[in-house]
Amino acid sequence: MHKVGHGKVLTLLAWGYWGWGNSTRKFVQAIDAFERKEGFNQPIFVDIRLQRSARAPGFSGINFERLVGTTRYWWMPELGNANIATNKDGIRIKDPFSARTLVTLAKHYQREKRRVIFFCACEEFGYCHRKQVAKLAKKEAARRRWRVKIGLLDCAKSANRAIPSASQFY
Ligand SMILES: [Zn+2]
Repeated sequence: MHKVGHGKVLTLLAWGYWGWGNSTRKFVQAIDAFERKEGFNQPIFVDIRLQRSARAPGFSGINFERLVGTTRYWWMPELGNANIATNKDGIRIKDPFSARTLVTLAKHYQREKRRVIFFCACEEFGYCHRKQVAKLAKKEAARRRWRVKIGLLDCAKSANRAIPSASQFY
């Protein structure tokens, strides 16, 4: 039996694609390289938007799924903000229970040394429903007595280069 504190920490990354809608290929190349440097294999993308009708071409419909391949992409509208459909303010996760699926996925891919990146369009984590999803994922992991960390993935654009980082944790 391992003591808590000696097990590996399960890390999920939260990302907002704002600004990358026209450069998804560049982003994916940069993030794959970033994960390799961090000691991981290619990450898995979990799309937590309620709807995929985006203005950003790279994230409209199945475009992002097509780019990274179906084995690296999951759409989980259950973790979307249901208030978007009704034009209400505030955040209401469509099915909070589905955070269990997200955590289970992350644990599954941890065995393959791959991290899950759950994403939405919004730039600011603090104002996006990603924050609620992160909270739910932490709660679910705690229930299972898993140690979990949510890294805030940032991807800066500099001289037409993509520079990812994940220095902050939620
Ligand atoms: Zn959002």
